[in-house]
Amino acid sequence: MAYSSIRDLDLKGKRVFIRVDFNVPLQKNDKGDMEITSDKRIKASLPTIQYALDHGAGVILASHLGRPKGKPNPEMSLKPAAERLQQLLGRPVKMAPDCIGPDVEAMQPAPGEVLLLENLRYHLEEEKNDPEFARKLASLCDVYVNDAFGSAHRAHASTEGMIRFVPVAGAGLLMEQELKYLGMAVTNPARPCVAILGGAKVSDKIEVIQNLGKVVDKLLIGGAMAYTFLKAQGKPTGKSLVEEDKVDLAKNLLASLGAKLMLPSDHVVVSEIAPGAANEVVETIPESKIGVDIGPKTIEAFSKVIAGAKTVIWNGPMGIFEKPPFDKGTVALAKAVADSGATSVVGGGDSEKAIKAAGVTSRITHVSTGGGASLEFLAGIQLPGVAALNR
Ligand code: AMP
Repeated sequence: MAYSSIRDLDLKGKRVFIRVDFNVPLQKNDKGDMEITSDKRIKASLPTIQYALDHGAGVILASHLGRPKGKPNPEMSLKPAAERLQQLLGRPVKMAPDCIGPDVEAMQPAPGEVLLLENLRYHLEEEKNDPEFARKLASLCDVYVNDAFGSAHRAHASTEGMIRFVPVAGAGLLMEQELKYLGMAVTNPARPCVAILGGAKVSDKIEVIQNLGKVVDKLLIGGAMAYTFLKAQGKPTGKSLVEEDKVDLAKNLLASLGAKLMLPSDHVVVSEIAPGAANEVVETIPESKIGVDIGPKTIEAFSKVIAGAKTVIWNGPMGIFEKPPFDKGTVALAKAVADSGATSVVGGGDSEKAIKAAGVTSRITHVSTGGGASLEFLAGIQLPGVAALNR
């Protein structure tokens, strides 16, 4: 894809609008103030912000936060993000009262200054991709940069619409990184290329299975998703989560993917899903039991395939990861991915937690910051925010 990088753009003396993803988790503290519980997303945007400042830009930052449904809501203000960013950058960050309008226009940042606009979703026009709202946002800047990969699958005014109205547009450093690794994984991976897919539902990942099925050498499926496939093979699944209406589709996928597709051969099962519930390992799931994780034989078989890979793409847990000990399969595969030395691209919150729990984050090549966006990318869907940069 042919898009400009921020590194190709002249930023000196320009007002540079950077669409960031500051959709941070917030929690009310004892005093009733909103506090950020993870500043990961703010930290992820620092290289791009710092790059723009170092190259003489006046920086305007914009993001959505939560779902304020088109109205100002103090609990979804970006003010806590401005304070945190100020600490991280070690320079003042001005907070705008809104994201458009005369008060905001009067706050234009000089080179070296940073202005954070208030929550874009205080205006319904953001999600509606309203052209007039997009034009007002665009009028604030000389250069547009999109660094919000996590929102690139949405055609909103700040991610898509306003690009029509800006003189120059490009991708930020984080966006570039995401497109580089995810793009490489789905178009030109070092082989063998192995994808691991897990999580709750086949229905969420049908397009990903179909698209990755064309690219990868092996597709390992775990998590509850696997039971719909086992059912399609005529195997017993007990009371495990099965999407009955997707069994026929699973049959078609089994036929088209053939030996590429690997399913669990043993399972950790319980009578009820509760932390510390008695569990056992079985190869055939009894009628009264629920599958909650992949078993040791599956861990071994999957790990062997992963060990031989040159590229690994991973999205979704192998079991009910948030309820230990049903996290064993997921954590074991996280270690296998790190030990393989393959170029590894991991997406999805649970897989990210698993690599953290396994203590292997630093040995993963790329951990995507965009859950939904990375899944759509892996499904081969053109992301509107990226397509707009190409225009
Ligand atoms: P997803 O958002 O589709 O990646 O799914 C993640 C969710 O799948 C997690 O909350 C897991 O608890 C759930 N999950 C994984 N394996 C199972 C399973 N065997 N039974 C029920 N839920 C599962």
